[in-house]
Amino acid sequence: MIEAERIQVLRDEPVDAAGNYVLYWMQQAQRESGNPALEYAARKANKNGLPLLVVFCLVTDYPDANRRHFAFMLQGLAEAANRLKQRGAKLIVHIGSPPEVVAKLARNAALVVCDRGYLRHQVAWRRDLAKALGKRLVQVEGDVVVPVECASDKREWAARTIRKKINGQTGRFLQSLSATALDVPARKLDISGDVEISCWRRVLDDLDIDHDVDAVERFTPGSSAARATLTGFLRRRLPGYADKRSDPADSKASELSMYLHFGHISPVEIALKVSRAKSPSKADKEAFLEELIVRRELACNFVRYTPNYDSYDALPEWARATLRAHKSDARETVYTRQQLENADTDDRYWNAAMQEMKKSGYMHNYMRMYWGKKILEWTNTPRYAFATALYLNNKYFLDGRDPNSYTNIGWLFGLHDRAWTERSIFGTVRYMNKEGLERKFEIDRYVEWVNQLDD
Ligand SMILES: Cc1cc2nc3c(=O)[nH]c(=O)nc-3n(C[C@H](O)[C@H](O)[C@H](O)COP(=O)(O)OP(=O)(O)OC[C@H]3O[C@@H](n4cnc5c(N)ncnc54)[C@H](O)[C@@H]3O)c2cc1C
Repeated sequence: MIEAERIQVLRDEPVDAAGNYVLYWMQQAQRESGNPALEYAARKANKNGLPLLVVFCLVTDYPDANRRHFAFMLQGLAEAANRLKQRGAKLIVHIGSPPEVVAKLARNAALVVCDRGYLRHQVAWRRDLAKALGKRLVQVEGDVVVPVECASDKREWAARTIRKKINGQTGRFLQSLSATALDVPARKLDISGDVEISCWRRVLDDLDIDHDVDAVERFTPGSSAARATLTGFLRRRLPGYADKRSDPADSKASELSMYLHFGHISPVEIALKVSRAKSPSKADKEAFLEELIVRRELACNFVRYTPNYDSYDALPEWARATLRAHKSDARETVYTRQQLENADTDDRYWNAAMQEMKKSGYMHNYMRMYWGKKILEWTNTPRYAFATALYLNNKYFLDGRDPNSYTNIGWLFGLHDRAWTERSIFGTVRYMNKEGLERKFEIDRYVEWVNQLDD
């Protein structure tokens, strides 16, 4: 089922009866299964007796993207292309700016369908495409459980202000989505892209992108790997998630964030499988769904309603005021950005966290909090700390450059949080220290585990 609230007409034109295909511009939802935009396009294709053409645009200057991100994405796309072929649709990949590429292909389309993203450039692409097109353009929002404007029509203060609004509607939006069989096969369409995505390794090497950050081995890209990760999580980690979620030394985390970021798996599918799982306790399920739905969708809310979401100036006024008041406090230790990036501090827990990020493109949530709070403590100004944390976050994390990235870097500086006891440097912004790590966890086990990760 595709709920009406997920569907938005971005350009209101009649379906072009002379069109040769229905065109789905895949961008945020890079998957063949559990993708409402794709299913909407498939239904329109059948209704009009047309084949379904899917296009993906490779944007070589995509903000903050490097080889690590492209490697993960291209492999996921290769799988999606293969699966779409089996469904009777055709996925082609072009290099170029989406509004230009899609508008060109749209000339022979009956209508165009796209998915939804919330970041500035994603919104701008869709707006520019709607302007450039002479065709009907329909956006289908499929990478959140509750469509962002249904959850709230304004920027929310914190999880506590959006929780009820989201949880009151999840039942309505947690619906299975069946795959529509395609009536007209697309194989006869004589259209090809700029690159052959099945040869993704060659495509990756040839792309004019930043090749400085290596691809990682720890996580296998694509929808099949995402599903396998989910299955393993349901069996082994969801039981106990509520109690142990914070422990980096004995992780219960799902490790699904990079798949969600690239749209390799639908959050609705994850939430349904978690809700229906038999063995875990109610508390485990609720704790996980709080993260997957409430926290993740609070991040979408922040980005949707905060035009400067990636700026220090987007932090709440109370947080900027308290950090301003403590800006000149003496720092016991100051590290340069380079020392931080080299994991070269006197704190072995912090260094391990930075190494986990660099080597594997991921870090446990609790260590992300500790890692970021220390950057605030160890740099000369909060504004510089913000820029440094965001830079490292987006450079190394596979799940970086996401609404979650901007929101959680903001959280380090007080966003969506409350005031705590006043102290040096932090003012009333929440503080964390290494004694907390030592008291709560067998943190040396975490360090040992990171040390054995391959470079
Ligand atoms: C400083 C800092 C930076 C972060 N940067 C990112 C980032 O770049 N990209 C990113 O996706 N997440 C980021 N997070 C949020 C969180 O740490 C990760 O989403 C989580 O660790 C991913 O691991 P997981 O999938 O195993 O999480 P699980 O615990 O298994 O959670 C399941 C899903 O819930 C969502 N989720 C979990 N925690 C949060 C949270 N605090 N806020 C919003 N959604 C959440 C994620 O989509 C996650 O995949 C950051 C947190 C901090 C404190």
